[in-house]
Amino acid sequence: MTRRFDVCVVGSANLDLVATAPELPRPGQTVLGTGFAEHAGGKGLNQAVAAARAGARTAFCGAVGDDDAARRLLHVMDQDGVNRDSVRTVPDVPTGRALIGVSASGENSIIVVPGANACLQPVDVLEAAASAATLLVQREVPDDTVRAALEAARAAGVITILNPAPASAIEQSTLALCDLIVPNEHEVELLGGAERLLAGGATAVIVTLGARGAMLLRQGLEPHLVAPFSVAAIDTTAAGDACCGALAAALSAGVGIPEALRFACAAGALATTCAGAVPSLPARSEIDRLINGAG
Ligand code: ADP
Repeated sequence: MTRRFDVCVVGSANLDLVATAPELPRPGQTVLGTGFAEHAGGKGLNQAVAAARAGARTAFCGAVGDDDAARRLLHVMDQDGVNRDSVRTVPDVPTGRALIGVSASGENSIIVVPGANACLQPVDVLEAAASAATLLVQREVPDDTVRAALEAARAAGVITILNPAPASAIEQSTLALCDLIVPNEHEVELLGGAERLLAGGATAVIVTLGARGAMLLRQGLEPHLVAPFSVAAIDTTAAGDACCGALAAALSAGVGIPEALRFACAAGALATTCAGAVPSLPARSEIDRLINGAG
């Protein structure tokens, strides 16, 4: 069937406010900062941009407030050609924010205010979730919305991918709606292990292992380790998002799971070679170059 998009991402969009200071303030204390920056973020937005840069016709479905932060995020989507027809504007609620303090020694403390992300309703996602070859969801919007998206996609024959991040318990019936589940080591442990996820009905579970690559587990097949691509890593922010977005892009193009995972691991590796989240997400040409260079 010809669909309007290759990948639809249903998820969060945040504006991250990052302040650096010699040390983080204790409760009641004020410290003088040394720097400040604002970045587009949220796993949903990051993964949508990752999929688009990896070559997929991508739609993002989420919720933002009616504020300047929203306009910034919508502009980021536009710059990468991410369709935003299914982004809902929620009045009187702020766009999602992450307030991040970073000390000179690299420690951080983060307050995430979900804001509009928490207002994304099942009804907001049904059409978008069925509009692409592949649906990609995370856990930064309400559970019943994630579930509704997966149900709508499954009913429409869409490939469903869940990145169960941030880690927290998930209903078994939601996991059963996923073709692929892509946790990191911490998340897979919290969900009871890869075998349990496979037993729940997933075609494949991919455990991302950071600098050690990724492990592909499938029903009835031996585990398959995708070796890491060798890169000079300087900032691992959004490596997982790059990996998930690129995986969805490759699968929507009809690539088999092992090959799609290699493409995804190359994207994840490249994302560590550049600071930040959105700025670090690689283009398809860079991913292909790394894969071809690795032979
Ligand atoms: P998350 O950020 O969700 O914890 P990971 O850190 O596991 O995700 O990274 C996702 C993928 O990116 C990994 O499976 C791996 O393929 C790639 N990757 C991450 N860090 C590195 C690194 N230092 N060197 C090479 N590849 C990396």
